Amino acid sequence: MKEKLLLHICCGPCSLYVWRKLQTDFAVSGFFYNPNIQPFAEHEFRRRELVKIAEKYAWPVVYAPVDLHDWFAAIRGLEKEKERGARCPVCFRFRLEKAFRHAREHGFDVVASTLSISPSKATAQINEQGYALAEKYGIAFLAENFKKQDGFLISRREGQALGVRRQDYCGCAFSKAEMLLRRRH
Ligand code: SF4
Repeated sequence: MKEKLLLHICCGPCSLYVWRKLQTDFAVSGFFYNPNIQPFAEHEFRRRELVKIAEKYAWPVVYAPVDLHDWFAAIRGLEKEKERGARCPVCFRFRLEKAFRHAREHGFDVVASTLSISPSKATAQINEQGYALAEKYGIAFLAENFKKQDGFLISRREGQALGVRRQDYCGCAFSKAEMLLRRRH
């Protein structure tokens, strides 16, 4: 029997390649929990795009309610950090910890995340948090770098073929401001 893997999903397009890759070896369930995505309309846009995919492939996915105030409390003092700076590991941990709690409550063997598929995210920062949580919760973390072997490009192409739209910034209000500044220069 396959091990039960809980896949933390940051957005629909990123999940396409990752889910297919993991389902060969694991019984995969999804977990969408991303209070970092702001404004809330953007959170809902990304959630809806994932719902389209999950319904098409009959994926079991839990959509956890978001606690924006707790996320802002967690990253307090790090607001001025750049993307890939000191705020991001805190953000990764905040989201992954919720996935680990869910995994413990529902008898999962392994936790993984789609986060590492993004070329703009530092994989080492994600995996470091995953390993720390694995130790804390006694559940394995599948440390991966899904952007390898063109994972991101494949996912993007598959998303386009399905008519699923992709976001143009990481998620938090600070990353949106960075993206807008980049566009102006
Ligand atoms: S840039 Fe992305 S990973 Fe970093 S804190 Fe913002 S939403 Fe989280």
